[in-house]
Amino acid sequence: MSRVYNFSAGPAVLPEEVLREAADEMLDYRGTGMSVMEMSHRSGAFESIIKGAEADLREIMGIPDQYKVLFLQGGASQQFAMIPMNLMKNRKAAYIVTGQWAKKAYQEAKLYGEAVEVASSADKTFSYIPDCSDLDIPEDADYVYICENNTIYGTKFKTLPNTKGHTLVADVSSCFLSEPVDVTKYGLIYGGVQKNIGPAGVVIVIIREDLITEDVLPGTPTMLRYKIHADNGSLYNTPPAYGIYICGKVFQWIKKKGGLPAMKEINEKKAGILYDFLDQSSLFHGTVRKEDRSLMNVPFVTGNEELDAKFVKEAKQAGFENLKGHRTVGGMRASIYNAMPVEGVEKLVEFMRKFEKEN
Ligand SMILES: *Cc1c(COP(=O)(O)O)cnc(C)c1O
Repeated sequence: MSRVYNFSAGPAVLPEEVLREAADEMLDYRGTGMSVMEMSHRSGAFESIIKGAEADLREIMGIPDQYKVLFLQGGASQQFAMIPMNLMKNRKAAYIVTGQWAKKAYQEAKLYGEAVEVASSADKTFSYIPDCSDLDIPEDADYVYICENNTIYGTKFKTLPNTKGHTLVADVSSCFLSEPVDVTKYGLIYGGVQKNIGPAGVVIVIIREDLITEDVLPGTPTMLRYKIHADNGSLYNTPPAYGIYICGKVFQWIKKKGGLPAMKEINEKKAGILYDFLDQSSLFHGTVRKEDRSLMNVPFVTGNEELDAKFVKEAKQAGFENLKGHRTVGGMRASIYNAMPVEGVEKLVEFMRKFEKEN
């Protein structure tokens, strides 16, 4: 068996310890005589898995009691619709468009009401985060929406926007559990877990209780109502049980490593190694404004498309996988999520240094 360094943006690298543990429990989960995949979601064993996962997530993020934690399906993309369907009481919301995912959410919201683009960084290919300290937010907007870490472009909100008292809704798919967070600043936080937490198929929604109401847009399907999932402890129907089980293991792994402060420290170290190299390299350079750089997704280019392609190819041969940039931006992107070891980044930089000398 040989494992590569996997720099995929998602689905992405998972902690090896978690995968090994899951492998050990594959045929017989703790004396039940069956795999978690084969288990009733109403069984005692699964109940303790989902309850344990929620309790650990609450502990790691410091989620206050007045927030519900939901384990849902449909990916982050389904939230693009579910959010307006449930929260657009005045049929109006403000969107900050900092990349493709924010744009998709903004466009989806337009199907349900008036989505107002209050800021954008489209003018410079989303290579920065706009100043959001004094935005023109409509008085009756139901919420302000951001994509906190832009997976494709490699930018991150270092300070949250001034919402002027409006509810903040954030897509944190690609920065979930990467550093400590003050949940009370948000009305709703959500993310697909396949970037930084677990296998594809689970989306976690953390939502303040007062936002969970019966008062949703007409025609909202039962499955797309937060209330139905909140009232049923994410067990209204069959949840993505195996995925939730793996997420639970990752939460345990994070706790063992020292929680979110430790994740932040390691992530800053890893990102620092890569950015420091990019800043002094004569061949490679980063594409994002320095103060807005993501700790998780690091895009870079050589400035020559042929050389970029050569780099990606040779990197792959050397055991560094998935370094090709998103199809809409080209170049390279190294996603260095929680589970990417420091050694993986050190080795990548070593390889880049060698490539620089040879080209
Ligand atoms: C990947 C990603 C999405 C889309 O996730 P799906 O689960 O494929 O719908 C949305 N937002 C962000 C920030 C992402 O990184």
